[in-house]
Amino acid sequence: MAEPPITLALSKGRILEESMPLLRAAGIEPDADPESSRRLVLGTRDTGVRLVVVRASDVPAYVQFGAADLGIIGKDVLAEHGGAGMYELLDLGIARCRLVVAARAEDARDGPRQRIRVATKYVRLARRHFAAVGVQADIIHLYGSMELAPLVGLAQRIVDLTDTGSTLRANGLVELETIMPVSSRLVANRASMKLRHRDVQDLAGRLAAAVAGSGTPATATGGA
Ligand code: ADP
Ligand code: MG
Repeated sequence: MAEPPITLALSKGRILEESMPLLRAAGIEPDADPESSRRLVLGTRDTGVRLVVVRASDVPAYVQFGAADLGIIGKDVLAEHGGAGMYELLDLGIARCRLVVAARAEDARDGPRQRIRVATKYVRLARRHFAAVGVQADIIHLYGSMELAPLVGLAQRIVDLTDTGSTLRANGLVELETIMPVSSRLVANRASMKLRHRDVQDLAGRLAAAVAGSGTPATATGGA
């Protein structure tokens, strides 16, 4: 009996766009365009690989519970999730940005008050960061448009991703500190690493070669 396909979960949006050239270079050619197709499960030509396309923040759940053997996610999403049930195999060097603390330029001059409100999608990372720097922070969980929160007094700080800083600047916000640099990672379900070791390593190896060929060196990131 033929083995079931290896399932790779891809993050919709920016990461998907930047993943496709790497996947193609690794010999994975989807049977429909994942960016325009409405199909959520795609086959590939000549490989035992199946692609599922999901919301970036949902990829960890698919990998953790083994619905996907592998996934491509931002380090931000991986760190916020905590990485339970998965190994980080490779830094793909794509979708690079930074997780930062930002504030309105006029508030940035005052040091943090006794207690500040921080708006973010990254509740766990924000909590850990402010605990580490000894600032009492009430974390407000938002799902988007974090830049708005300081402008209307919802929060004095935000924790959000930025690349060029142009969205922050456009809203009169300045970066105060970088929490972590972010790029996309290949992750594997822990059980798949054992049960489908050869297939997982084969795909990881081909992606590593594709990353090396793309000019940004692939870094084997080892354990979780
Ligand atoms: P969503 O809006 O669903 O969170 P995005 O495409 O905005 O989806 O972000 C998905 C991932 O892309 C993030 O988790 C991060 O790893 C990466 N990313 C987000 N913003 C940027 C950016 N400005 N530059 C590069 N990569 C980014
Ligand atoms: Mg976004």
